[in-house]
Amino acid sequence: SWNPEFTHEGLPMRVRMRPGALADLPGETRSLGLDRPLVLSTPGQERTARAAADALGERTAGVHPHAAAHVPTASADAANAAVRAAGADGCVAIGGGSAIGLGKAVALRQRLPVVAVPTTYAGSEMTPVWGITGEDGKHTGRDRGVLPASVIYDPELTTTLSPHTSTMSGINAIAHAVEALYAPDSSPLTALMAEEGVRALAEALPAVTADPSDTAARGRAQYGAWLCGSCLGTATMGLHHKLCHALGGMLDLPHADTHATVLPHVLAHNAPAAPRAHAALRRALGSDDPVSALRALASTASAPTTLAELGMTRADVEPVTERVLAAPYANPRPVTAEGVRGILRSAMGTP
Ligand code: NAD
Repeated sequence: SWNPEFTHEGLPMRVRMRPGALADLPGETRSLGLDRPLVLSTPGQERTARAAADALGERTAGVHPHAAAHVPTASADAANAAVRAAGADGCVAIGGGSAIGLGKAVALRQRLPVVAVPTTYAGSEMTPVWGITGEDGKHTGRDRGVLPASVIYDPELTTTLSPHTSTMSGINAIAHAVEALYAPDSSPLTALMAEEGVRALAEALPAVTADPSDTAARGRAQYGAWLCGSCLGTATMGLHHKLCHALGGMLDLPHADTHATVLPHVLAHNAPAAPRAHAALRRALGSDDPVSALRALASTASAPTTLAELGMTRADVEPVTERVLAAPYANPRPVTAEGVRGILRSAMGTP
């Protein structure tokens, strides 16, 4: 039944999307009053970062192409030092969650604005969540100060993303929407964004795989990523994100592939306790069986389908289960050791 009780908090940010929007970067940085932003990227995206710096001309402090997965402390320190040394007054973070995460690490310490130019579908650009990985694991937190002030979605920048990475990263985004649908702090607006975000990505990803240079499909995928990222920014995530966080942190499994592999199993587990979320996913995926539809979506990019293929072994099941149970968090179905073990075993693909 409809329960018209909710609290919804919108996040203050500006979003601009169009093919070729990277050319709008100088206008965006100027409108934020930035004269010398430092452009951040991973080494693999340095060419795009240089193109952005070229577009900024005199009004940039240069390029720092040293972002790394999960923002290691050393990488955060180096970027903060580079910002100080260059006298930068903000950052432009170009790339996936790794580059945007580095921009957030600078914002966290120096309170400088970030313009995000996402080139994957992970969704970090839409959230006030930061993460920095030290010797003792990944630390995360929420801080309004790390929310990018402005986000530029340029579908043309994503045509180099392989079908595999596109699909894995797109299902990573879908996972944000799935968990937002059953989050305790979901709202009617969050539910609308989640359903439409899943619909857009489920339609766009097979088209992207068929033709990675199809900018219309790329734009639709980014539209989905934007909505799903917005869900992540406003709603509290549950068991799925907790599991993926533990698997990534303890076993160093690849982030997006882990999300794509685990999601159908968590969804199958949670579905009986989240009928409304399940109904929304049936509509969004155009299928009576959202779990199979998600598997089919992953298989279009011939992705690994089991955690065993990603490197998890039977010996890992117990420690990961313990880690997941160590901290309480919201989930539509109570989280038990037996439940978590069951999900991990079925996701491993071995009996
Ligand atoms: P990523 O940023 O590491 O990108 C994956 C790889 O793709 C990298 O090697 C990158 O150089 C390459 N790449 C990026 N864009 C490309 C393009 N257009 N063409 C070709 N190659 C490209 O990974 P990701 O999946 O985007 O993000 C995952 C990270 O982000 C994780 O650390 C995760 O924890 C974090 N994350 C954080 C939030 C948050 O709200 N804080 C949300 C989602 C993800």
